[in-house]
Amino acid sequence: MPTAESTPRPVVLIVDDDFTGRLLERETLEQSGFAVDEAPDGETALDMLDAAAPDLVLLDVDMPGVDGFEVCRQIRARWSPCEMPVIMVTGMDDLASINHAYEVGANDFMSKPINWPILGHRTRYVLRAAEGARIQKELEEKQAAIVRAIPDMLFTVRRDGLILDAKAGVGANGAIEPGLFIGRTVADVLPGGRGAEFMDALRRALDGGMLQSLVFTVPSDGRDRHYEARIARSGNDKGVTVVRDITREKLNEEKIRRLAYYDPLTGMPNRQHFLERLAQELERTARDQRQLALLFLDLDGFKRINDTLGHGAGDALLRQVATRLKEKLRISDIVSRPGAESSAPHLARLGGDEFVIVLPSLDDAHAATAIAQRVRCALTQPFAIDEAEVSIGTSIGIALYPADGRDAATLLKHADTAMYHAKEKGRNNWQLYSQALTDQAMHRLNMENEIRKGLERDEFRLVYQPVIDTDRDTIAGLEALLRWQHPRRGLLEPSAFIPVAEESGLIVPLGRWVLHTACAQAGAWLRAGLQPARIAVNLSARQLRTPDFVADVTAAIAAGGINAQLLELELTESLLMDSDPARIDDLHRLKEAGVHFAVDDFGIGYSSLAHLTRLPIGTLKIDRSFVHGVQHNADDAGITTAIVALARNLGLDVIAEGVEAEAERDFLRQAGCSKMQGFLFAAPQPAAQIGQLLGRAAAPGRAA
Ligand code: C2E
Ligand code: MG
Ligand code: MG
Repeated sequence: MPTAESTPRPVVLIVDDDFTGRLLERETLEQSGFAVDEAPDGETALDMLDAAAPDLVLLDVDMPGVDGFEVCRQIRARWSPCEMPVIMVTGMDDLASINHAYEVGANDFMSKPINWPILGHRTRYVLRAAEGARIQKELEEKQAAIVRAIPDMLFTVRRDGLILDAKAGVGANGAIEPGLFIGRTVADVLPGGRGAEFMDALRRALDGGMLQSLVFTVPSDGRDRHYEARIARSGNDKGVTVVRDITREKLNEEKIRRLAYYDPLTGMPNRQHFLERLAQELERTARDQRQLALLFLDLDGFKRINDTLGHGAGDALLRQVATRLKEKLRISDIVSRPGAESSAPHLARLGGDEFVIVLPSLDDAHAATAIAQRVRCALTQPFAIDEAEVSIGTSIGIALYPADGRDAATLLKHADTAMYHAKEKGRNNWQLYSQALTDQAMHRLNMENEIRKGLERDEFRLVYQPVIDTDRDTIAGLEALLRWQHPRRGLLEPSAFIPVAEESGLIVPLGRWVLHTACAQAGAWLRAGLQPARIAVNLSARQLRTPDFVADVTAAIAAGGINAQLLELELTESLLMDSDPARIDDLHRLKEAGVHFAVDDFGIGYSSLAHLTRLPIGTLKIDRSFVHGVQHNADDAGITTAIVALARNLGLDVIAEGVEAEAERDFLRQAGCSKMQGFLFAAPQPAAQIGQLLGRAAAPGRAA
């Protein structure tokens, strides 16, 4: 309980010329707990106010000399109504003097005769109201000061997004005049989806009561400005949003990141950056169960350049090396799978003349050695430094994940070791960390040379596999298949050498040989009086991309002395997706000349109907894997039936590949596919045997 001492009584100054009136007022107010001072006229009252300000003035209107109105006017010149409340006591109950009392600034009025029992209550009420107003005013002033002091903008936003109020602190970015937003909606003001995002946050703030914050970017004068908004609930239906311009912080952050993560000389990621990225890539590669290669590059003889031409030249050389590396690695065809941006290589400078390249998402280690080879060649070209021509070599060490290490540190160490190995081997070369992989790479390299020699020495052969028309029991066509009579390893099937031929580009001369040989064979059969039916030749995508492709095909047809109708070219599904108009054009030109086209191994790729209809395809060859599955796999059976139906709808011929069992044949016939190729009918055979088959087919009475 507060005691009389602890809370001083509020002081009321009674101003009245009537002695009795003053006495009664004093009596009543003191009983109600007020301390009282008295003044018998206006002049005295004003003097007393100067000496000590009371908490409230009870002021008689009618006084000789300075009247109550004048005293009130003078009080108001110095104190506001909440600082010094005034109750005017009017002699008359007329409206004019009441109005006048308010005009000069009275808080309240009472008319005589005074209702004594309520005087104390009335006085306390006026005091409390003045106190409330004073607190409110202080609060508003404080708030205004805070708004002025903080570098933020403040918005009051209604639940439906309407902006009710907006203010800006002195430090807030001048680019925005928040007052212009009043009366608009958030959706109006915030670009793109940010409005909806803000509304979600506002709703969360209003319903959950928790502070919400979001960061957004607004384009302004051709630059992006970044803002952070914090939304706090203010009542049930409104949120106060503090918006801060954080553009400068963002720029600083970016600058710091650049300093911490990039090499200032070349602009490339630095060691720290590289290690973090490598760790991420390793995680992803592990998840995708793929391989990753780390190439560690060290320039040969860099020290010599620094020593002889100076550090300026050394720096210039490093910058040029960086540029060349970036250019070399930007080439899209080093990515092992088309459309896989995620497998783009990462580059970094570790320091000095050491660079690293990360090749993520590899299917096969060979890609890494191919890139090492390319990078080495690119850096072998001379550099122009200060009018001088400078040549350097590069030693490259390659470590592979997971074979040579599963974490960044191990891979880096092993790539480094491999790089030293490369230096020992005479510099300017690449080495794989694992010997086994080096051997594998050597094998591929040997194989390339052998294919080249094999072509010169005429070691390749063609075998032919008949396509059977099971309705008529005739040979509907032949497919030419490549074999290699290897001097040491015997007869090799395509799987043993086609991949290397594809990667090295040797498939182009090899494919040309196949085309010429197949056409020549068809011509030979014709001249021997046999009717060879159509001969299918497999084409590689790379062959098709050579500029002489059309000329090659027409030359082969002419050299064989056959009608173009006799030739069918088998394309892979991936070729169908190629949208290069020049290539599509080539195919149409050949089609007009009479050549037929088939899609090989259909169903395993991703081609769509659109792809099929864009090209002059005449035949679909259902991939062996589906044919093989028709008996015991409902999916395969379904796909096979669907392909046959699709072919029929598009007016295409359809051939089933790899038919080995009678049950497969029966299923296919039932599905509407009558042309088949497979061991059930005939294996691929040399030309001589095929010649006999054709002869038998042509001979009368073959039904026997
Ligand atoms: P492909 O064009 O789909 O050829 C059909 C393959 O299936 C041939 O294998 C053939 O021997 C095999 N085959 C035929 N009937 C059956 C059967 O009933 N069961 C099983 N399991 N297999 C059967 P091959 O000759 O080993 O050729 C493999 C692939 O190599 C060919 O597949 C083709 O993509 C490619 N290829 C062959 N010759 C050439 C060529 O001259 N140029 C190009 N670019 N690729 C070729
Ligand atoms: Mg084929
Ligand atoms: Mg096939």
